[in-house]
Amino acid sequence: MKVLVLNCGSSSIKYQFFDTVEKLALAKGVVERIGMSSAVLSHSRYDGDGIKIVGEILDHAIAIEYVLGVMLSKNHGVIDSKEDIEAVGHRVVHGGETFTDSILITDEVMQVLQDNIELAPLHNPPNIKGVQAVKRILPNVPQCAVFDTAFHTKMPMKSFLYGIPYELYKKHKIRKYGFHGTSHSYVAHKAAEILGKNYKELKIVTAHLGNGCSMAAIKNGISIDTSMGFTPLEGLLMGTRSGDLDPSLILYIMGKEGLSLNEAGTLLNKHSGLIGISGVSSDMRELITAIKEGNKRAQVAFDIFCYRIKKYLGSYAAAMGGIDVFVFTGGIGENSPEVREEVCKDMSFLGIQLDVEKNLRKEEIISKEGSLVPILRIPTNEELVIALDTNKIVEESKVKN
Ligand code: ADP
Repeated sequence: MKVLVLNCGSSSIKYQFFDTVEKLALAKGVVERIGMSSAVLSHSRYDGDGIKIVGEILDHAIAIEYVLGVMLSKNHGVIDSKEDIEAVGHRVVHGGETFTDSILITDEVMQVLQDNIELAPLHNPPNIKGVQAVKRILPNVPQCAVFDTAFHTKMPMKSFLYGIPYELYKKHKIRKYGFHGTSHSYVAHKAAEILGKNYKELKIVTAHLGNGCSMAAIKNGISIDTSMGFTPLEGLLMGTRSGDLDPSLILYIMGKEGLSLNEAGTLLNKHSGLIGISGVSSDMRELITAIKEGNKRAQVAFDIFCYRIKKYLGSYAAAMGGIDVFVFTGGIGENSPEVREEVCKDMSFLGIQLDVEKNLRKEEIISKEGSLVPILRIPTNEELVIALDTNKIVEESKVKN
């Protein structure tokens, strides 16, 4: 099946067009600066051909028209007509408690997505806009939603409830949801496949380290705990997000600095984490360059980043009664030998022993020969999962009808 995968953000749309039989991305790209007169569409084809188009792209519908235009174009395209797109799969950030799996988008599903906007005010509205735009432009093409939260919906109550009055959970759905589910699920399955083991019999810890970072404890195929929470702010230190902190310090800072609710949110989401501590950058590459130049604050930011991953690793070993596999993924997890080395340092008490050479060579299995816990470095591929899920759901719906 030929599936267009869309990841609609507030001012950008990332897309990939898949042949799900070959598991191959025929084309991919991104539209940035949507809503501005100088929006940019960067498109590349599987054979290396690429093009950049600058234009006035005022909303998501126009952005999708541009994407279809370039996919149809004689010189840079990959399809002959719009009918070649058999389904569209959307990355949707928040499925709340309702969606425990990917789903065919119907009017009822759209209603629930609308109802969940409060839970993900930054993410769900652009996702909904994308679905509506496709419905107008490709009215007969089935659309599916694949949720970042779905993989974590089987967490036990002791993992997902916070220590606040229970009524607030019932009234406002305040609980841990967890994110990056598609990525955690993909790399955990892939790790089992690489090791030739049964996924359902393993205790796996996955660390997705990108601009946003989260870890998951996956026991016998179920995510039993994860570091992001009610929102993607909780847990690990991230590029610009604080991760875990004492909740009362927010009230204290608001008072001391005279911040509004919005300003406090911006402080914790945009000006904290690696950038906030180092004052250098939220980008791990730039941080490592600064460390090599002797920048002390960059070093502290790096140390906190790795230290917190170690602590979560230890706590997940306790939560699952041990660890069988440890997986790194995401831009940092896949590409930074420095972070992987620091995280795995002195962890042999848990059976985790990194092979420094394999780590530097960026091999798939980077643990020492005798390490009780294999350590893997697996590039994530959330878009492929979305395409395959979409394919499966659309085929199933055809059988039902
Ligand atoms: P997103 O969460 O937005 O998808 P990515 O998964 O692409 O982000 O991760 C972005 C992060 O990956 C940035 O901090 C970037 O510095 C880091 N990164 C990418 N390549 C490298 C590298 N070679 N070494 C260290 N960090 C890297």
